[in-house]
Amino acid sequence: MATKKKTTATSAPSETKQDIERTYRFFKLEEFDSPDAKGSGVNMQHSTVQMLDEARALAGIPFVINSGFRTKSHNAAIGGAENSAHLRGFAVDIRCQSQTNFERVALAVIAVGFRRIGVHYNFMHVDNDPSLPTNTWQYNRQNVEEQYRLDFVRAATKMADFLATIK
Ligand SMILES: [Zn+2]
Repeated sequence: MATKKKTTATSAPSETKQDIERTYRFFKLEEFDSPDAKGSGVNMQHSTVQMLDEARALAGIPFVINSGFRTKSHNAAIGGAENSAHLRGFAVDIRCQSQTNFERVALAVIAVGFRRIGVHYNFMHVDNDPSLPTNTWQYNRQNVEEQYRLDFVRAATKMADFLATIK
């Protein structure tokens, strides 16, 4: 069977930040800056921002990025995981304060294929870091709201994976 060989999408060296940003409907790379390094949002992985952009279109509500790329020192300062996907530009924390917003954001990020999701009562961590295993988790084990969010994410993931088998 003749299949078209897939080429990996990489940014050509001549591609400017503006060229890359033009491919996103909703995001500017500054939104992903590590707070201690202006302009460091350019270290975000193109695949991550592309998926996020698609999810944002589906959700139909603004995604406020609490954290995107992190320098090693910023990550350490805020107590991030030592091997955090934020260090490699594969992760974002999206602000989710109301349960309704959380549900829309969760359904959208799952629909576009994110399978590493951490839930917090104020935000949702999503990443597509290929060096880390598929996982869903909560940050505060005793928090009822987070427990609800984790159950929601797990059920929605099962549904999305099931629907993918019947397409
Ligand atoms: Zn995070």
